[in-house]
Amino acid sequence: MQEVTIIGAGLSGLIAAIQIAEGGGRVVVHEAGAKPGGRARTDVSNHRVNLGPHAIYRRGHFGDWLMQNDLLPKVYYPSLLGLRLLSGGRSRRMVPGLPKVMSSGKREAPVDESYRSWATREFGTDVAKLAIGFASLPTYHPDPGILSAAFVQERIARSSEWRPVWYVSGGWITLVDKLAARAEAFGVEIVTRSKLAELPDGLCVVATDIPTAAKLLNDPGLASPGPDNALLDVSIKKRRGDPTAVLDVDGHVYISSFSAGDPSIAPKGEWLLQAVAGIGEGEAVDTARGRIEAAMDVGYKGWRNRAVWQRKGVTRNTVGPCEMPGTTWRDRPAIDRGHGRWLIGSHVAAPGILAETCFESAKTAAVMVLSKLD
Ligand SMILES: Cc1cc2nc3c(=O)[nH]c(=O)nc-3n(C[C@H](O)[C@H](O)[C@H](O)COP(=O)(O)OP(=O)(O)OC[C@H]3O[C@@H](n4cnc5c(N)ncnc54)[C@H](O)[C@@H]3O)c2cc1C
Repeated sequence: MQEVTIIGAGLSGLIAAIQIAEGGGRVVVHEAGAKPGGRARTDVSNHRVNLGPHAIYRRGHFGDWLMQNDLLPKVYYPSLLGLRLLSGGRSRRMVPGLPKVMSSGKREAPVDESYRSWATREFGTDVAKLAIGFASLPTYHPDPGILSAAFVQERIARSSEWRPVWYVSGGWITLVDKLAARAEAFGVEIVTRSKLAELPDGLCVVATDIPTAAKLLNDPGLASPGPDNALLDVSIKKRRGDPTAVLDVDGHVYISSFSAGDPSIAPKGEWLLQAVAGIGEGEAVDTARGRIEAAMDVGYKGWRNRAVWQRKGVTRNTVGPCEMPGTTWRDRPAIDRGHGRWLIGSHVAAPGILAETCFESAKTAAVMVLSKLD
């Protein structure tokens, strides 16, 4: 039987490998890094830290597949009781108007209109502003108001469900390890430190970032725009009353404690916080990080003196694409590239939120690959 090459052992490449091998295919995965994981990696030292705040949306095909295949690692629900919302310089449990936004999930919003224009008509100017601030969390975008109303509304609806997400105990690497182990159990060979500069002969699934895929597929026009983000990870000495999470609906900043439900990821007495802010057009990274620090000042009093460890980061179009008015996921780069080549990942033409798109695209490609095998 023909061998299938997969380039990239992030979530997408590993999921495709499992599904192709499960269907009877012979698979080799090449990974440039020393270990599988890609953006789902967890850096492990005194702290176990993901690349920015990461959560699995649990009520989707990806969550279902993980559960049905016994691939879900140990997870927990982030506590909503400890969430604080920052608005008007104050920290509170709820902001008037937000329940209206969160319960609006069943209302369909148009693809062709901006979320700001649609939400202003639906809720009025003040609540629309709140809704846009709330949407900065599931979109990771600095100004979700400019995006397609349908795109933003779907994210708000998914984030407003009862217990919408799981946090992964021990970091996302525990999910990656499970996927890699399952792939290997199906006979998949995972070759690490193997950076491919061109596509090999035969059937090939490209599961890299888009700029690398553009080179490998010899398609310089390949693009799928998404936001840039400033990240700040801080481990602080815990104080009673520290919130489990802070959403700054004015400053479009999200901060979450990953120690609140999983004390194993930081030394005893410390709380590991991961914060993210979308970087606005023309905004300096330091200015975006300044918004994070300002939210930390309100949410976690005295955090600068309590900080035991911290690291700063920037990600450029790596969270996932965002759709502008008039576009949907169907307008993103196609999965089937012809001639036995496929492109999968967070930025391609498949539905779902964030890593769900990795799963959906991997599943679609796996079916196509299996149909080509003798
Ligand atoms: C800050 C941040 C927060 C996020 N939060 C969430 C969240 O809360 N929930 C969620 O679902 N998703 C979230 N995501 C998105 C999620 O991390 C990604 O969608 C997912 O990890 C992407 O997986 P992938 O396999 O498609 O790509 P990648 O993880 O990028 O994997 C690609 C792999 O290809 C390898 N590679 C590249 N070039 C080559 C080459 N030439 N040869 C061989 N190998 C190569 C790379 O080393 C890498 O391992 C977040 C992302 C970021 C950056």
